Amino acid sequence: MRMPAVVHYALEPGAVELREITVPEIGDEEVLLEVGAVSVCGSDVHQARNTHSWPVAVPVVLGHEFGGTVAQCGRGVRGFKEGDRVVSETAAQICGECVLCRTGRYNLCPSRKGFGYGINGAMARWVRVPARCLHHIPDSLPFDIACLTEPHSVAYQAMCVNSTIRPGDLVVVLGPGPIGLLCARMAALSGANPLIVAGLAVDRPRLETALALGATHAVDITKESLDDVVRGLSPLGADLVCDASGSSRTLEVALRIVRPDGQVTKVGWSPQTVATDLNPLVQGNVRLQGSFSHNYPIWERVIHLLDRGLTLPEKIVGLRAPLDAWQEAFDAMHDGRVIKSVIVPGAQ
Ligand SMILES: [Zn+2]
Ligand SMILES: [Zn+2]
Repeated sequence: MRMPAVVHYALEPGAVELREITVPEIGDEEVLLEVGAVSVCGSDVHQARNTHSWPVAVPVVLGHEFGGTVAQCGRGVRGFKEGDRVVSETAAQICGECVLCRTGRYNLCPSRKGFGYGINGAMARWVRVPARCLHHIPDSLPFDIACLTEPHSVAYQAMCVNSTIRPGDLVVVLGPGPIGLLCARMAALSGANPLIVAGLAVDRPRLETALALGATHAVDITKESLDDVVRGLSPLGADLVCDASGSSRTLEVALRIVRPDGQVTKVGWSPQTVATDLNPLVQGNVRLQGSFSHNYPIWERVIHLLDRGLTLPEKIVGLRAPLDAWQEAFDAMHDGRVIKSVIVPGAQ
């Protein structure tokens, strides 16, 4: 059986197209998932433009933020059956043997391969998924919101697991992209106040969204000095700076506005390497924390938050498109017309 899929086929700009491919066969421990919805990640857009900074095994079907209905179960699958509504984690392949895998930190397994760059992803009618990646979702949670569990989990890991936020902490989020905005929402839910989201002039609509998500200040750094805003609120600086800008240069900004004994959490990727003066890190006794991916307990918690409507995802999703309109879904995000696009493969 054949199906259409959004395939990243070469490591050059624009090398993505809708192709007919074979519906995958599943192994004993896997399920075949009928994709209900798959949201477009900034990383999908980067891969389509060949501006990504991670290894991609082409050709590969894009899409790692998805949910759907179990269509077929392998013989060894326990706990899931045909017709179950689920979302899937992204660690499609792990070794299962290393100390990280054995202690539930499998998202950091050195052998990890994720959907959409190492293993065929979900921008298709069907996708093959190991059952260990699955989480049930409540009937009340529609797929076009449930697919956002993944980016929310990235933000939850960054703000609620890898960072400490106490009510009343001054938190700054650099970069109002989808992940930055979701980090801002998680910070708001954790009691951050003041909560500053900083971006550029082109980010104006996203900065408005940041305010709707609970930020107390939205700073356009082309018009206003972020340093002045931060020092005006707290002369020592920010308790926590979340760098979600997707640039390496902003580390310098983060180190300038964080307070002594504060924390910088870096969640954005960048292909550039930069020379940054790290002396302020030492002198200020600052904790610098990277944040990557997520694991089982985070997913369960985020599904609960989404089902309760606590994360306001409808403020993020600006476009829902069928599979054959994938290009428009990508372009709308790249051009900044929407923050997040969702592809619904079953829609016409
Ligand atoms: Zn993503
Ligand atoms: Zn491992």
